[in-house]
Amino acid sequence: MPISNISLQKIESNLLTQKKINLAILRLDKIHEHVSGNKLFKLHYYVEECLQSNHKTVLTFGGAYSNHLVATAFLCNKKNIKSIGIVRGEEPAQLSHTLQKCKALGMILQFISREQYKKISNDEEYLLLKKMYGNCSIVPEGGYGYLGAKGASLIMDILKSKNPSHVCTCVGTATTLAGLCMNKVASEKIIAIPVIKNMKDIFTRIEALTQLNVEKDLIVFNDYHFGGYAKHNAELITFMNKFYVDCNVPTDIVYTAKMMYGIMDKIANNYFEKGSKIVCIHTGGLQGNYSLPDGTLVF
Ligand SMILES: *Cc1c(COP(=O)(O)O)cnc(C)c1O
Repeated sequence: MPISNISLQKIESNLLTQKKINLAILRLDKIHEHVSGNKLFKLHYYVEECLQSNHKTVLTFGGAYSNHLVATAFLCNKKNIKSIGIVRGEEPAQLSHTLQKCKALGMILQFISREQYKKISNDEEYLLLKKMYGNCSIVPEGGYGYLGAKGASLIMDILKSKNPSHVCTCVGTATTLAGLCMNKVASEKIIAIPVIKNMKDIFTRIEALTQLNVEKDLIVFNDYHFGGYAKHNAELITFMNKFYVDCNVPTDIVYTAKMMYGIMDKIANNYFEKGSKIVCIHTGGLQGNYSLPDGTLVF
């Protein structure tokens, strides 16, 4: 894994001093400017598996703004593997910057209707895809699968010897979260902050991915989705700008800003005991901020 640029950044603020909380951010965003750090971890074993194959081709799925698609295109490009991206929806006249990046990295893009896209979720459909596009390793959308969780579990290796009391991540498919749960030690609690509204199946997802029952060790903060996936308001933008100025950490509008807002809010409201050592995983995703009008953010 490309863990060379990752740092664990200690956050200083009056609130943290006053509440006697130790907070650090694991900067997976520093691995690459455009590619979400957690996606590279999730893809690690899928790509390893593909490298053992004869076809040396990865096929995966995503929408026009999918961080997972760019990460797949990037990693396959680096490993000399062919990549095919099945994109949800009709081909637009103007490709999103995400899809432009994918293309520039050599990914072959195939647009399919939303109805067709929805249907692809089982092995039968996967077989059909292999007939259409040739033999390939199929990576489920968002890397959601055992190999994805196993890859994400490597993130916890970086934190060994740091002895956090809590490790926190934002949640989309819950694959990254499942990986953290797989590789935690008994003294650690894992905190999940969903960026999707009414996400009720987190524990089911983790069990499906890892066979683990994590009810005792996992805390879910369900109130920081800001209305749903990619939804945001002026309060979140103000928070992002202030957090950057105060702590020198850029966050993204879809994932990491909601996580940091949630954690800071819980700290302010005395959720954590004095002396807690919290590590938040900065999963990356900063390219998502391109969707905001110029000048919205100070970074
Ligand atoms: C995809 C993504 C997530 C969500 O990860 P899951 O494993 O799907 O829960 C979180 N943060 C960023 C920046 C992402 O790109």
